[in-house]
Amino acid sequence: MGAKVISGKEIAKKKRREIADEVRALREENIMPGLAVILVGNNHASKTYVNNKEKACAEVGMESFLISLPEDVSQQELLKKIEELNKREDVHGILVQLPLPDHIQEKSVIEAISPEKDVDGFHPLNIGRMMTGQDSFLPCTPYGVMIMLEETGIEISGKHVVIVGRSNIVGKPAGQLFLNENATVTYCHSRTRDLGYHTSQADIIVAAIGKPNFIRSSHIKEGAIVIDVGINRDEHEKLCGDVHPEVADKASYITPVPGGVGPMTITMLLFNTLKAARQSKSVLHNA
Ligand code: NAP
Repeated sequence: MGAKVISGKEIAKKKRREIADEVRALREENIMPGLAVILVGNNHASKTYVNNKEKACAEVGMESFLISLPEDVSQQELLKKIEELNKREDVHGILVQLPLPDHIQEKSVIEAISPEKDVDGFHPLNIGRMMTGQDSFLPCTPYGVMIMLEETGIEISGKHVVIVGRSNIVGKPAGQLFLNENATVTYCHSRTRDLGYHTSQADIIVAAIGKPNFIRSSHIKEGAIVIDVGINRDEHEKLCGDVHPEVADKASYITPVPGGVGPMTITMLLFNTLKAARQSKSVLHNA
């Protein structure tokens, strides 16, 4: 029997409807949630991601502000722009599209964003809050994974979760979010010895590797839940995940690519922007 498919596309649709309702309510109170997106240079993929984010904002009735800066913009100018956005009352969320050109230090840029507007959840303060279980902006991709599981009614507490990948934006925070939900977490990465030994013990596997069709049936145990975060092109330039299609025959649940984690990521960005707008309202009321 094949795995049940967890449709991120459908869950994202439902969540975006809920977000749109809340945006409408906030607008009635004269608060228009606004997301500023900074794009540096002409990277084609980055442009597409930024366009998708703008479209998604419009769909739920939010304002988006695109700030396009040239490839050779100095770090100082970029930081100045962020400082301006930090002060603007009509901007509730700020996102700098990564990667940045080599002459700009990513760390300084992320740290320049006000933690109250850090809707990507990459600022060290938000990461620290997440690690200590405090309220914070959660990084959108792993947050989306958690919502997909919640919406599917999958219990996490007590499960053994194996995360393959330890990037700051996906793998590491994903493990932390599962730990916060009382899972037992194992991290694997490129230096892990005998990857299959670890993955085959997982109740839930999160693949965030960036290698087409890398996880095979032999890596998983019968009935495992498999979350495929990867977005890759295979040898025929076809979009594919990190998990080979054959895994669907052995898993109990699986997320597709496309239509899985991808649509959830932007949805959680909208959710975080809405949260930032709501929080700015309480700041205004308490002022
Ligand atoms: P990344 O920064 O390149 O990290 C990849 C991770 O995979 C690293 O930790 C690396 O280990 C590990 N890895 C590489 N080869 C491995 C191997 N042979 N065995 C075990 N681990 C291995 O990538 P990322 O930014 O986390 O993204 C991962 C994938 O998710 C990409 O396909 C990306 O496009 C996709 N993605 C999707 C979304 C979405 O919205 N769906 C969002 C973000 C990313 P080391 O640390 O040891 O190098």
